[in-house]
Amino acid sequence: MDAKEYIVYKCLNCNRNFILLASEANHDENESKYITCPYHGKHRKIIVTGVYDGIKECMQKRSYKRDRGKMKQVK
Ligand SMILES: [Zn+2]
Repeated sequence: MDAKEYIVYKCLNCNRNFILLASEANHDENESKYITCPYHGKHRKIIVTGVYDGIKECMQKRSYKRDRGKMKQVK
């Protein structure tokens, strides 16, 4: 089984959401690094807003739509 979990994070500094694979997030934790905001490297007020089994479910719940190949949050 190769179940992939996605974790949805929110940066409280710029109010943006971003998604990481759980395996990648765990890797960072093991190396004693904090997760930082992908939009601004110095933002460290990151909270977890959801964990999903698949990227599709994740996108649906967060109301993302595809916009010319880029993921865009619409709600
Ligand atoms: Zn940020």
